[in-house]
Amino acid sequence: VYDGGVHAVHDFSIDIADKEFIVFVGPSGCGKSTTLRMIAGLEEISFGDLLIDGKIMNSSAPKDRDIAMVFQSYALYPQMTVYNNMAYALKLRKTPKDEIDRRVKEAAKILKLTPYLDRKPRALSGGQAQRIALARALLDDSRRILLFDEPTAHLDIETELELKERMLPLMEGRLVVFATHRLHWVHDMDAVLVMEDGRVAEFGAPKELAARDGAYARLASRLEGGAL
Ligand code: ADP
Repeated sequence: VYDGGVHAVHDFSIDIADKEFIVFVGPSGCGKSTTLRMIAGLEEISFGDLLIDGKIMNSSAPKDRDIAMVFQSYALYPQMTVYNNMAYALKLRKTPKDEIDRRVKEAAKILKLTPYLDRKPRALSGGQAQRIALARALLDDSRRILLFDEPTAHLDIETELELKERMLPLMEGRLVVFATHRLHWVHDMDAVLVMEDGRVAEFGAPKELAARDGAYARLASRLEGGAL
């Protein structure tokens, strides 16, 4: 419940297994962001508990939750080059220089950022900046949980589909929660959660939900009709 009384999320109760890839879908305003921000520790949880590894985390600081979060708006360090933005987490952990160099260049290649490594963020387009924010989170493997809040909103659909295939291997072995209103993220993932008006409307394996005449099917038909 936000200050001022907006009740953004109701009765949200799910278990996510370690290393699962779960996609949150639902129209704008249904509560995806609020839920992710509560998990990350950026919003206070008004009622109920968040457990990570069985431990109540409600009052833990965001930095103590083993979580990296990528937003739709990318907060890059403006004074650092693209290279240093990407290397930042590895440097903090005193990773050897040659390993940092190898991994930053590999991620740059995957996300098609090689030509921009020496630039500062202000000299980039929205889509390029978004790819750097993605690369930065993927390189920060000190965090076991990755939360994505519409991180591809500034990419055109073709770029997004291509990058998706290239990025997925870098997310393997981590617990990923990916909020989006683009349904192609749902296919082949472990679980999909459909939110409607702040509630969990449906939660399960994508194939099962697609075969049912429920919230997921409704959302898919609205998207096909261009309603979102
Ligand atoms: P989504 O991510 O699915 O678009 P949000 O979690 O951003 O949905 O929003 C859920 C609801 O909470 C909306 O009605 C939105 O207007 C409201 N909301 C979001 N942020 C705030 C805030 N800081 N203060 C008050 N209401 C908010």
